[in-house]
Order: sequence, then C-alpha cells, then structure tokens
Amino acid sequence: MHVLKFGGSSVADATNISKVLDIVCDIAKRDRVILVCSAIKGCTDTLLNEGVTPELTGRHEKIIRRLFTGREREESLDECRKIFDLLAAGTPHIEAYGEILSTKIIARKLACDGIRTQWIDSRSLIRADEGKVIESLSYPYIMATVDAHPEIEVFVAPGFICSDREGLVTTLGRGGSDYSAAIFAAGCKASDLEIWTDVPGIMTTNPKDVPTARTIPNISYKAALDLARYGAKVLYPPTIAPAMEAGIAINIRNTFDPSNPGTVISDRCVSDVPVWKGVASAGSGENSVLHIVGEGKPDAEAALERATAVLKKAGIRIIRASVEDGNVCVIVHSEQEKESLKAIHKDFFEQKNNSVTDIYVAGYGAVGKALVGMIRDGAANIAEKTGKEIRIAGIANSKAYVIDREGIKPEDVEKRLKSGNCGKACGFTDAVLENASRGAVFVDCSNSETLQESYTAFFRRGISVVSSNRRALSVPFAKYASMKSEALVNGASFRYDTTVGAAIPVMESFSSGAVNPDSLQSIEAVISCTMNNIITGYDGANTESFATLLKKAQDIGLTEKDPRMDLGGQDALRKILILAREAGIPLESSDVEIEPMLGKEFFDCSLEEFYRKLEEDEPEFIAREKELDEMNKRQRFVASVVKAPKSPLGFKAAIRMQLVGMDSPFYWISGTENVISIKSDFFSSPLVLKGSGEGAKFAASGIINDILSV
Ligand code: ADP
Ligand code: ASP
Ligand code: MG
Repeated sequence: MHVLKFGGSSVADATNISKVLDIVCDIAKRDRVILVCSAIKGCTDTLLNEGVTPELTGRHEKIIRRLFTGREREESLDECRKIFDLLAAGTPHIEAYGEILSTKIIARKLACDGIRTQWIDSRSLIRADEGKVIESLSYPYIMATVDAHPEIEVFVAPGFICSDREGLVTTLGRGGSDYSAAIFAAGCKASDLEIWTDVPGIMTTNPKDVPTARTIPNISYKAALDLARYGAKVLYPPTIAPAMEAGIAINIRNTFDPSNPGTVISDRCVSDVPVWKGVASAGSGENSVLHIVGEGKPDAEAALERATAVLKKAGIRIIRASVEDGNVCVIVHSEQEKESLKAIHKDFFEQKNNSVTDIYVAGYGAVGKALVGMIRDGAANIAEKTGKEIRIAGIANSKAYVIDREGIKPEDVEKRLKSGNCGKACGFTDAVLENASRGAVFVDCSNSETLQESYTAFFRRGISVVSSNRRALSVPFAKYASMKSEALVNGASFRYDTTVGAAIPVMESFSSGAVNPDSLQSIEAVISCTMNNIITGYDGANTESFATLLKKAQDIGLTEKDPRMDLGGQDALRKILILAREAGIPLESSDVEIEPMLGKEFFDCSLEEFYRKLEEDEPEFIAREKELDEMNKRQRFVASVVKAPKSPLGFKAAIRMQLVGMDSPFYWISGTENVISIKSDFFSSPLVLKGSGEGAKFAASGIINDILSV
C-alpha cells in the first residue's frame, strides 16, 4: 500500500488538483493507494477566523466547475452546498470541514475517471486524545477497512480530522494532515509514505527565507524531527513517531516537480559521518530561536563557536547561544532572524564561492613543478571557464618554504624558494595554519608519510585539502574516516582524485551514489603504473630480459627504490584501499589478499641476489610468454574488490596476477595505462575508465580540477 498526502497548496485550485490526480493515477497503476488530503489552501484559516465566506464557497465551486461537467457537476455542487449550509447553521468544529470538502471533490473526480475509489471517514478510523492518536483505537479499524475492500484502488481520506474517545469530532492540530497520513501508513503497514507539498523536500532551511536553500536528500528520523520541531513547517513533528515505529520511510516530494526525488526520512541511509543537516527558526515573542541541527553527533561546541563568530561578523546581536541536545541553539532579535539565517546558512550550507582560491602547496618535485606551470599557463582559461583564480599563497619543498598572502607569481616560485625560510619538518604546516584563511586549500603533492597528520588541523580551520599523496590516504580506516568527517563538519573539502589513476576522474564517477556497498558488484583494476609498464613492456622475444627491463625502470625512478615493493603489490594495495573506501567499504590493508608476482624466495634476499635470480629464471619467463601468446592471453596484475555476502565486510579484496583474454579491457593496455572497471546494479554494463595513470602533467591537471571543485 502507498499512502500519499497532499497539502493545502497542492489542492489549492483545479489546475493543481489535476497535477495531484496525475501523480495518484500513476502510482495507482502499481499499487493500492490511500490518498490523504488537506483542505484547499487557506481554507482552515478562513473557517477558523471568519467562518463560511462567499469567497470560500466561490473557490470550491470554481474548482468543481473546472473539474466536472453535466450531472457530476450538479451532484458535486449540491454536496458542497449542503456542507456549507450545515456550517452556516452553526455546526461545531467548523474547521474540521475543509478536509471533508476537498476530499469529497477529489474522490468523485477519481471515480469519474474510472478508478475504483472509496472515500473513507477519518473521524471514525482515527481516535485521538488532545492531538495524540490512540493507536490501539485506530490501527485495527484502518487495517479492517482496507482489508474489507480488496477491489478498491484508491481510498481517499480527509487529513487533520479525527474523533476523541467519546466519538466527538476533533483535530490533530494545525498542519496535522501529515500526521494523519503517517497514522494511515502505520495502521495498514504501508510500504510507502509520501508527503507531497510545494517544496522539493526538507531543505537546509526555509527557502522562503533563504532562496539558496538546498534539498536534503536523506535525513534520519531524529534530525528530521528536530528540524520540524524547531520550526521547519514542511513537516508536522508528530508525523515522525508512527512512521519510525512502523519502520516506514517518509518521502517528502514536490507536487510541482514530481521527477525530483525529494527527501527520504529514514534510518537506512544515515551516514556514519557527523554532518550538519539544516537550520530552522521559530519566533518566540520579540525573539527568534535558531537551531542548527546535525546528524551523527557532530562537534556542537566547535559549531557553536563557528556560528557565534559568523553572526558577530554579520553585525548581529546574539541574545543567547548554547548547545542543546547536540544541536546549536542561538537566540536573536526577531528583526534580525532572516539576516541571521542567511549568515548561518551561507557559512554552514553553501559552497564557498571565493573568486580567488588561495593554495598552499607542499612538495615541489615533478608534480609540484607541473602544477605551478599549469597554473601559470592555464590562468586565463580557468578564469574564463570558472570565474576563479588560483593564487599560490605558499609553497614548500624539502628544504625551504615561502608564504605570501599577496600571492607568489608562478614564474617567481623557483627564485623565492631559494631565499625562503628554512623548511623544518613542521615549519610550513604551522605557517599555513597561522596565515591561511577559511576557504584556502592545502595541496599535498609530496610523498610524505607524516603530512596527513596535519590534515585534521587544517580542516578545523576551514582549510580544505587536495592531496595526490597516496601514502596520506592509505592510513587505517578509522583515521581515514575521521579525516573525512572532520572536513565535512567544518565546511571544508577533502579531495584526492589523483591518488588513483592521476587525471582519470575516478572519484568523480563515485560521487553520484551509484557506487555504494548495496549496489556495488565489483571493482577490478590494473592500477599499478609500474607493474603495467613492466608487464606490458616485456614480450619474452629475447630483446631485453625481464631483469634488465625492471632495472631500467628502477634507474629512471619509475619503481620504488626497491622495485620489489611494486612487485609485492604495495602501490596497488594503497590504490585499491582508496577505491574501496570511496565506495563505502571500510577496507583495511590486512583484508586484502596479496599474491606477489614472484615467489617468496625473491623477496627474502638482497637486491643484488634478487636480480641474479631473475636473470636465472629468464628462460622460464620466455617459455611462459610463449605459452600465453599461443592462448591469446596476457598476464595482468589485477587489484579487485568483489561482492562476497558471506565475508565479514560483504566484499573480498585481492591483488594477484590474472590471465585475461581479448574480451577484457585489461588486455588492451600499454605502458603506464590504468583501467578501472566498476560493476554496479545501477549500470547495465561495467563502467570502464582508462587512461595514463602516471605523469606529472596528468597529476597536475587532476589536482587543478580538485582545487576548482573544492
Ligand atoms: P503543506 O500545505 O503541503 O502541508 P506547508 O506549508 O505546511 O505545506 O509546508 C511547506 C512549507 O514549509 C514550504 O512552503 C516552506 O516555506 C516551509 N518550510 C519551512 N522550513 C522548511 C525547510 N527546512 N524545508 C522546506 N520547507 C520549509
Ligand atoms: N488544513 C489543516 C491546517 O491548515 C491541516 C493541514 O493542512 O495539514 O492546519
Ligand atoms: Mg503542512
């Protein structure tokens, strides 16, 4: 069963009602529906404040004239007039009749259109005590009603109204139709509960106050409840509990943009990463109370400090500020409510759109040099395409560093580094922390194993990090996850798309959400540039032995100092860890089964000995290569993460040599090319990404993309 609820603006006039009917009919083709509606927009207010007015009867009659013709029109008009006459005669609880009017009209229209429809009376199905539904006196009647009419496709029920223990008409409180819908859903154990309104879901704040508000795609019951009770009118707070208790997700959608997926409230998609979800406000006398609501226990004390600083900077007087139930609560004067919301929203929920992005670059090796060169050559292009300027505000090599908040010209970097400060281990990072402002970007293109220890400090200052340093990312999962969450809660970005496949936009293809532990079948990749280069360069045709090739690669710095690190899969290991974690799998190095390319005896000896052994085995390598040629196969060093429901992580990860045929994209690589193949239930065929995984310019262009998307 689908329970659908449409609010007052969704049924405000005949045009809108037609949109509602389209949505309902579409869903009714797939499932039975309980349709819960509010009174037409403004109707409850009018009934409460003025009673029956000619304007109100006129609006209902106009809807009827637009929706019906002939006998149907007369019958509907007659039905409406009888209700209005009753109200004019002084019937008590006049406000309860708006929903009866709207649903009677809509039920008639559905029936007219050939849908098997039944109007059901919420007054006899829902019992409540002072606005709180008595479930034991409601759920059994709801269930019995839908069970008694298996032929009915759409039940139509008025929202908002019910009766008390004595059976007298009452209501669930203003905005209560949402609650009615949740009660119907829980009562009949519905599979789906959709609340259709005039905005595309729960947004980061009320879009009427702050037009830049965004839809929150997923939110926990608790965070949704907090936003609702602190003033987000889009959802009536009591709606949450019955849905949550029955394990039903609530989907908030926009009647006027039905293709928008809106917000899903459930505990299924709650991220384990702490985040701030939205800010709500409510008036209380002369004051307004703002609440910044989070999920996953973000650091509220830090956010309190951040919010206070932001408001002070905007010239707003704070009456009181505190942490309340894990959320941040700030009280301001009502006249400053909107201004405060805007300032907080901008800082917590909007992309920083600095036209100048300051970067602090650690590492001036091949990649660092290429980066500086590309910033110089690409500046105009970047400005034209994105309106942004990348300014080098600091740079460091292993010996020295320079900081200059006015910007260091790319062509001067070399010269300025020569006369720069002495680069003691933490000198540069400390100087960055001291000088960089919020929104700046720390770029790690070093090979350092320790630099990542400073990332967290950067995030806490609102400084983003772009890293091409795989070592910094292959830390234990807990550390990796805490770096990510630290970035998120502090409104900073953490990007490292170049750590796997250089300029190949791998992480970008993960950001759609199509790659997640539920949908992912496998990631298979040939991602070790060194291994790919050596394996594809060796053909066994006796021109150069495997040992010679490897030695040459070592000499030009393509391998690690000891090339056995590569053969042992260390580089592939770091990359598969990054890929798996990006897909949401908490993989650790120890979970990955590694079968090195060569036997154990090659690793338990000196480097010299190793090369000698390799040379000795050359005839075997040649024979193997010939055998492969005859089979039309190739050997590839494949790193993989494959769904394995029975294993503790739900996935198995391995790095090993595999034979591949011409039907595999791995067959067709040459040199340092990488291929990453992702199978997900979302894709009808694997997503295959291919390109060079090595090269300073590739890395630099990937880093620039990361900087621009911070
Ligand atoms: P309905 O009549 O459909 O029940 P409501 O008027 O009760 O609709 O609620 C929708 C309104 O809630 C929106 O028009 C919007 O102005 C307001 N609103 C307040 N806070 C939020 C928020 N955080 N996200 C979305 N809408 C909000
Ligand atoms: N019509 C009622 C009100 O305006 C209930 C609702 O729309 O949810 O409060
Ligand atoms: Mg409402």
